[in-house]
Order: sequence, then structure tokens, then C-alpha cells
Amino acid sequence: MSAITVADGLARVDDDLCIRCYCCHELCPDAAIDLETGRLGRTLRTVGIR
Ligand code: SF4
Repeated sequence: MSAITVADGLARVDDDLCIRCYCCHELCPDAAIDLETGRLGRTLRTVGIR
């Protein structure tokens, strides 16, 4: 999707282009991509739904 650009040694993901396939997370040989849980996910985990 060409959603990732690198400038000055820092990679950025363009949320408008990203289709959230998570291939970058799964395939990065340096494990450079961390996933963050959003507010809803954290709330669901807190109440034991996830
Ligand atoms: S989740 Fe998929 S589309 Fe989004 S940046 Fe990663 S590889 Fe690209």
C-alpha cells in the first residue's frame, strides 16, 4: 500500500493508506513494529471480555 515512509531513520505509517493487514508487524525481520491497543480494546480487556 506504500503506507510506510522512512525519513531521517524514522519510519512512519500513513493511516489514510494503511489497510491494517499487519504484514509489517508479522514480517519485519527487526520486529520494529509494535501494535498498540486502543481505548475500546483496553476497556474490554479490563472487564474481561477480551
Ligand atoms: S499494516 Fe499493512 S498496509 Fe499498514 S503499514 Fe503495515 S504492511 Fe502496510
